[in-house]
Amino acid sequence: MEQIKVFLNEDEMPRQWYNIAADLPHPMPPPVGPDGKPIGPEMLAPVFPMNLIEQEVSTQRWIDIPEEVLQILWQWRPSPLCRALRLEQALGTPAKIYYKNEGVSAPGSHKPNTAVPQAYYNKVAGIKRITTETGAGQWGSSLAMACQMFGIECKVYMVRISFDQKPFRKMMMQTWGATCIASPSNTTNAGRAILAQDPNTPGSLAIAISEAIEDAVTSKNTRYALGSVLNHVLLHQTIIGLEAKKQFAKIGIYPDVIIGCAGGGSNFAGMAFPFLADKIAGKKNPRVIAVEPSACPKMTRGVFAYDSGDVAMMTPLLPMYSLGHTFVPQPIHAGGLRYHGMAPLVSHTLREGLIEAQAIPQLECYKAAVLFAKTEGFIPAPETSHAIAMAIREANRAKEEGKAKVIALNWSGHGIMDLSGYQAYFDGKLSDYNLTEAEIQKAEDCLKGLPKPPPLK
Ligand SMILES: *Cc1c(COP(=O)(O)O)cnc(C)c1O
Repeated sequence: MEQIKVFLNEDEMPRQWYNIAADLPHPMPPPVGPDGKPIGPEMLAPVFPMNLIEQEVSTQRWIDIPEEVLQILWQWRPSPLCRALRLEQALGTPAKIYYKNEGVSAPGSHKPNTAVPQAYYNKVAGIKRITTETGAGQWGSSLAMACQMFGIECKVYMVRISFDQKPFRKMMMQTWGATCIASPSNTTNAGRAILAQDPNTPGSLAIAISEAIEDAVTSKNTRYALGSVLNHVLLHQTIIGLEAKKQFAKIGIYPDVIIGCAGGGSNFAGMAFPFLADKIAGKKNPRVIAVEPSACPKMTRGVFAYDSGDVAMMTPLLPMYSLGHTFVPQPIHAGGLRYHGMAPLVSHTLREGLIEAQAIPQLECYKAAVLFAKTEGFIPAPETSHAIAMAIREANRAKEEGKAKVIALNWSGHGIMDLSGYQAYFDGKLSDYNLTEAEIQKAEDCLKGLPKPPPLK
């Protein structure tokens, strides 16, 4: 019988995170202010606790996972690595497809892998309250749960349109003791300014970030938390790839292709970076593919630039592939992939030629998601469907080439809270968005006048 599931025991779970910054062929450009001067760690202190800022700038290869964090991660980790045998059979491919199931956490995605350590480090630093933003609610619900576990108050600014359309995530946050309000709100200057211009605005992630940061820096004992993009977030997610490597080693396999969907880049990096360590060391040479939606193509059609993380430009300028902080993506259902910029570390590995980027339109993704659900049972999140669609493309290619390669994808989360997207797909209400060059150019105009990152050397 084929082995379709590879488990690790609790005591085989990694005890350290992997920091790729230690192994990069060229160093990363630093975050800078509007004047182009590097931002020092102390300038981030009003926003994040110092222990997380230290991780953000660290170049130490291995960083210990605190015991208190392991205790909680053990509730759903190590996560299973599964063979998608029935999907392979449906495709008639000689390729083997494996998926690392991150949908087994209580909130249903990879996001608690970083929410738990972020809440822990805030707790240790004496912080009593954390603010954040959330789009579709996956991050807000993960942070709500983590804060509850460490006795920290949690306030979530949820993008208005999702707040109205997706009440279930909001209820999850409430169940875990967090306060969730619609953004823009009238409780911050940033929110009031937007509402004065347009009282009926649907809101955006970039607006909600501005509100959450303003709340954090103007409130007592409060810091802000981000669910993707930043170095320390990607660091916490490497537990995914470290486990996957151990699981593949158990069955004597090394994947030929590694795939993750990429919004801010954290689940992709979490899966990919531990394998990239082997690639950088010249030991192995897997293809590593980050998949983005065609409607938000920052890596395949954006520019590498210094850009801000939010509309109000409250964040430092980060070196990243971006469509510009004013970019407003089409309302595709993969809410978690609608961010204008890509994590600096992922952007850097793309520049270095260590990874590839591909964009896939949403109809192909939904088709792939439905085939996955019909064959493997689990219903994927709309974000995850991008990784599945890419794996199917690769499996079909293996069939044409008659090659028995091994494809590994990170199954970032389940879609049980996102069934309205599936309904729209079944009803034929979804379409693909083709962004014109002019639209992209217009969005990128906001980058003019900002400092430029140095060339790779
Ligand atoms: C948030 C989310 C993503 C996208 O975020 P990344 O930081 O790019 O990983 C992908 N999949 C799921 C299920 C998510 O919740």
